[in-house]
Amino acid sequence: MPTDLTIQATRNAIAEGRTTAAAQAEQCFARIKKEDAEIGAFLTLSEERARAQAERIDKMAASGEPLPPLAGVPIAIKDVMVTRGLRTTAGSKILENFVPPYDCTAVARLEAAGAVVLGKLNCDEFAMGSSTENSAYHPVRNPRDKTRVPGGSSGGSAAAVAAGMAIATLGSDTGGSIRQPASFCGVVGLKPTYGRVSRFGLIAFASSLDHIGPFANTVKDAALVLREIAGRDPMDSTSAEVPVPDYVAELEKPVDEHSGQLSAGVPAREAPARRMRVGVAKEYFGSGLDPEVRAAVETAIQKLAELGCEIVPVSLPHTEYAIPAYYIVATAEASANLARYDGVRYGLRARGARTLAEMYRETRDAGFGMEVKRRIMLGTYALSAGYYDAYYLKAQKVRTLLTRDFDDAFKTVDVIATPTAPTAAFKLGEKLDDPLAMYLADIYTVTANLAGIPGISVPCGETREGLPIGLQFLGRHFDEATLLRVAHAFEQARN
Ligand code: GLN
Repeated sequence: MPTDLTIQATRNAIAEGRTTAAAQAEQCFARIKKEDAEIGAFLTLSEERARAQAERIDKMAASGEPLPPLAGVPIAIKDVMVTRGLRTTAGSKILENFVPPYDCTAVARLEAAGAVVLGKLNCDEFAMGSSTENSAYHPVRNPRDKTRVPGGSSGGSAAAVAAGMAIATLGSDTGGSIRQPASFCGVVGLKPTYGRVSRFGLIAFASSLDHIGPFANTVKDAALVLREIAGRDPMDSTSAEVPVPDYVAELEKPVDEHSGQLSAGVPAREAPARRMRVGVAKEYFGSGLDPEVRAAVETAIQKLAELGCEIVPVSLPHTEYAIPAYYIVATAEASANLARYDGVRYGLRARGARTLAEMYRETRDAGFGMEVKRRIMLGTYALSAGYYDAYYLKAQKVRTLLTRDFDDAFKTVDVIATPTAPTAAFKLGEKLDDPLAMYLADIYTVTANLAGIPGISVPCGETREGLPIGLQFLGRHFDEATLLRVAHAFEQARN
């Protein structure tokens, strides 16, 4: 077990010579070897790479050099981010033996900041799913109750943190895949604004909806990781040229006093001090919301009021169209992105085919799982001539309406508080035969991906059975700082 499961405690202990980066990594590997046979969070370990990095950090510490912000912090990476020389599968058989020639920018930035990469984490195939049962390798079990799913698609990333096998992890979120598993496993998960973190080296599912973000035990740790991975990257033209604030410093600001200007996205220094405004939208508390989850989220909102936040009702009238719009846009983009797995460029190639077309067909038939095939078919259909206007174009229009809903709401509030998921973690196998029921697990998270706004899930309570419940905060574009600040204040008050 690592000394303490926070980034700063680990870094300080290494800086003060109370432990070494090597010892921290070894403790994590020992724990993984002991516990992960049952949990299934890891697909590949990178022991050599971890040892080399730990040695580098320990040399720096021994010579008294100033240590980088994540020095010696053991982390792990969802297997949809490419890692140089380290097998990357995207949870798919089609990439079973794929060893990428370069590193994902987010991973490279974490290593540059001193983090030690332990390995690659299990996930739904190509990040398609809400339970990690669509992994082509094996499912992941929720460390809080091993008969239940950890959520998905970043189930391995959430479970690794919850089980103490890594201090922080990276996941990806296309429709909720960071926030929903964070909620199911009782950890913090953050999806930044679209464009905040480079997607270079993220294996694409739906490019206009995909995001990379951190999982951690505390909001502060999520802020520390975001600070390193955020910011413009010349390798991703959609990464934004927006300055990255010091998220950690922002955390300490009080929530009963806020100088942000409400009508514009940019905080005005001169605006008169007022209380932080937290919006509550009835559309996120409708039928389908489990009563225990509702009660926990309502108690959390009460707590925010006690902390000095002003609770303001807001309306997001197009919310009910989010799931259908998401499953059109996501599958359409996926059908285009997955065309590249043709048996020629990467990974698997079917043997024995007599023609090129046969080779494509057989490779894709053998390499892709059921859910991936379903999405390719749905997406191809939605984009086909004659149906494009009826489905894809319509979905894009809905997307604009959803974005406008948020723009309007953020004229009167700073953040919006919602449940992260309609239920706590469900049983393995429970929704496997019912894709529509599975899709509804993302009902409160897909809206942020469609609008590109940031969202965070923080633990806010437990069911009677002891299953974690998550509280989600949504914020303005590029205003992760406010999101983190409210989430941190809530977390402090709860502990
Ligand atoms: N569960 C959603 C889906 O299956 C979201 C997945 C994700 O965010 N990667 O598409």
